[in-house]
Amino acid sequence: MNTIKGLPVSSGIAVGKVFLKKTISEKISLVKVKDQESEKERFQTARVKAIRQLNEICSDMLHTKGEQEASIFSAHMEMLKDFEFINRVAGVIEEQKCNAEWAVKNIRDELVEIFESMDDEYMRERAMDMKDISNRVIRILKGDESDGTLRLAEPAIIAANDLAPSDTAQMNTELVLGILNENGGPTSHAAIIARMLGIPFVVHPQITSLTANGQLLAFDGETGCIELELDSEILFQYQKKQEAFIEKKRQLEKLKGTKSITGDGYEIVLAGNIGASKDVDRVLQQDGHSIGLFRTEFLYMNRTEAPTEEEQFIAYKETSEKMQGNPVIIRTLDIGGDKEVDYLNIPKEENPFLGYRAIRLCLDRIAFWKVQIRALLRASAYGNIHIMFPMIVSLDELRQAKCLIEEVKDELRNEKIAFNESIPVGMMMETPAAALMADVFAKEVDFFSIGTNDLIQYTMAVDRMNGKVSHLYSPYDPAVLRFIKRITDCARENGIWAGICGEAAAEKALIPLWVGIGVKELSMSPVSILQIREKIQSLSKMDCEKLAEKIFTMSTAREIEDALKNTNKPVSNRRIP
Ligand code: PEP
Ligand code: MG
Repeated sequence: MNTIKGLPVSSGIAVGKVFLKKTISEKISLVKVKDQESEKERFQTARVKAIRQLNEICSDMLHTKGEQEASIFSAHMEMLKDFEFINRVAGVIEEQKCNAEWAVKNIRDELVEIFESMDDEYMRERAMDMKDISNRVIRILKGDESDGTLRLAEPAIIAANDLAPSDTAQMNTELVLGILNENGGPTSHAAIIARMLGIPFVVHPQITSLTANGQLLAFDGETGCIELELDSEILFQYQKKQEAFIEKKRQLEKLKGTKSITGDGYEIVLAGNIGASKDVDRVLQQDGHSIGLFRTEFLYMNRTEAPTEEEQFIAYKETSEKMQGNPVIIRTLDIGGDKEVDYLNIPKEENPFLGYRAIRLCLDRIAFWKVQIRALLRASAYGNIHIMFPMIVSLDELRQAKCLIEEVKDELRNEKIAFNESIPVGMMMETPAAALMADVFAKEVDFFSIGTNDLIQYTMAVDRMNGKVSHLYSPYDPAVLRFIKRITDCARENGIWAGICGEAAAEKALIPLWVGIGVKELSMSPVSILQIREKIQSLSKMDCEKLAEKIFTMSTAREIEDALKNTNKPVSNRRIP
């Protein structure tokens, strides 16, 4: 079979060689060994290989990033040369007559516990390094010789079994032609970032066993088709597709400078979602009006410690200055779920999306979170910053979070540091609890932004990362749509605005419904902005309202999706000025 079909999650055409990134399972089992000497040898060989890898990464870092980043890896090399560590591992192999993986894991856990219990903060942070170096050795022992980074020497298509959001965030867009991953769906954060970077992405559950390093292949991020063997005819077809994709983009460019307004005058703010201040350029390039969602957790990833107040202040200030007075909605830290940050030492959970995540973690670590709130308030003196809280489920949480803002404002006043006294504060509407209590919340915030990615997963009880139950994960489900309507109604009745910043904001077939129920702002990956503007310009608000009425009489996702996809024709042809 030369053509296989996966789940398309980011559009675009990719043709190129495969770079295989296979992460080996972290599970380590105890295996009894007879020959302990050769097991010790195996450990020594893996340790030396690990040092060699670190040496390469270190000199790479020195060239590309700088001395500070490189020093982390040279410290890791030193730790791997430490006799205490080497002797302890050898001792466990000897005593327990066990495999080297098990021995390294034992020593790792023992030393991590010791480091973590120390009073000295510097020593406590060494726990993370110990985990890192031990896991590198374990990976090598298990046969994974890749160095754990995505260092491409030439343009390639990445085929991975478990690509993390942090992997996608640090990708070099010049060299990554496309991504094929074994897990996740359209709202996994790895996919969201790929869309923002304009990288084609398809999910296929067996992709790493069907491909080999260096293999030439092509895929279509719109249809999900993957061509495992290329002949000249297929290559020609893909070239044509690529040309058509580029031509469509060129056509959309003509909409720059026009309004996102329906034929009968209903205007929607089209905003961009970003994960770093440099992403603002993509939003401006696509003529986005504002920033509807800055996922600040990405500032905390791919590093060994949290960003300082100053670093964050600069990122937020830069972002708002670039937007020249247009709104910049900055969401406070939303770590957890599929977004992991090792140095925060969050224990592994059975259900991370239902656990210690986002506002829950921040309210539990107030001193840590305060750094971000200070940076945000300070930056608010330089632009139109709005603060937004993620994952709110109760009024208590919202009030505690707002209390912290007031406390920091007091501090800044005392320190005579400028900030915007009337900075707007809003919340993500992404849990059923928040949607049901929208009438109450609407009296306590300045705006709502609907996070459909989570709202769907929590309403339908479907893990947004789990392909096996993805048929239940639908933005067309009437239960989800009723919540969205309730949120927009409550916002209107209380004189605040409601927008959408989840991926459903850019779902073309749903745009008439968003117009019909009076959504004021849609925030999306910058690459979608002009397509959605084109769609809005083809609509009439009056017709959309009638359509919405009809949709809310329907009872199944299938019925609603069919109705919206069949009415996808333009209903008004009035030209936009
Ligand atoms: C959402 O849940 O819709 C959202 C925008 O937040 P995130 O995807 O970062 O969870
Ligand atoms: Mg969310």
